Amino acid sequence: MHMTGRVYKSTGSWYVVKTTDGKIWKARIKGIFKIDGITSTNPIAVGDEVELELYPKEEGIAIITAINKRKNYIARTSPHQNKQQHIVASNLDQAMLICTLKEPKTSQGFIDRFLVTTEAYHITTIIVFNKTDIYDTKELKLLESLYELYSNIGYIVFNTSVKKVENVDQIENILKAKTTLLSGHSGVGKSSIINYLFPNLQLRTQEVSDWSGKGMHTTTFAEMFDLPNEGSIIDTPGIKEFGLFNITKQELSHYFVEMKPLLQQCQFNNCLHINEPNCAIKKAVAESSINESRYNSYCNMLESIKD
Ligand code: GDP
Ligand code: ZN
Repeated sequence: MHMTGRVYKSTGSWYVVKTTDGKIWKARIKGIFKIDGITSTNPIAVGDEVELELYPKEEGIAIITAINKRKNYIARTSPHQNKQQHIVASNLDQAMLICTLKEPKTSQGFIDRFLVTTEAYHITTIIVFNKTDIYDTKELKLLESLYELYSNIGYIVFNTSVKKVENVDQIENILKAKTTLLSGHSGVGKSSIINYLFPNLQLRTQEVSDWSGKGMHTTTFAEMFDLPNEGSIIDTPGIKEFGLFNITKQELSHYFVEMKPLLQQCQFNNCLHINEPNCAIKKAVAESSINESRYNSYCNMLESIKD
């Protein structure tokens, strides 16, 4: 029997796939998969739509025979081989980055690197600053300026407190009927937000079955969860950063949304906006129409890219 399904979890050798009728299958790959000419350490990722040959009599076992074209995907450099990419998730509608300015502190550099990555993959990103209830005057001031900064350049930003139940409910609407990549440092409140909104979901408390074989590191695998509002979230526990895979120095400023519209105005079309004459970006920073902290993030990222 043949059916289409979506990958909910991948452990490297086994996949958890849900078919369009809502049934869960343990699936394996048959043959060799080459997708879009990409060299990836994992040919199939969470979020992928796949074709399955089903063997219902053998304890819900299925064979993945094909992968359907991805709408998009997000990748990071492979933890073991730097030159290979590891596809974290695919077919995303948006990403939601949960941050905190305290316990733990999410740096602006981290936020900006995340935004560059999602821009590069054309994934809309929502920023949430959680734990506002524990912020002191200093953090509240920073919160205000970051809220203003990111909303002014076009991102949707929420300031939330799960503890005080402030603004958390607004997030439910954002997640409705969409596939959302959920990201952020460990401890920022990702599970708290999701478990508050959807108490029956039990995010991250799900038992990992042992059929997937040995040597498995559950914490580094992405997993998709269906929400009761027709949305799904992809949780990526253990993934700290995506890394600027394949982004060149020349390209970088294209992924700073407030720089992109000005790039045509630089005198040199290969301007890196560092010390070239008549640079529209440097001029905008001097006039404060581009925030200096974002420009600093740009310079730091530029330095970290090897030619
Ligand atoms: P995750 O690792 O991102 O999933 O973070 P958790 O949801 O496990 O939260 C980490 C800790 O922060 C837990 O002890 C939560 O109770 C706490 N926490 C989550 N949200 C808030 C919040 O808005 N305010 C405060 N004060 N604590 C929070
Ligand atoms: Zn320039």
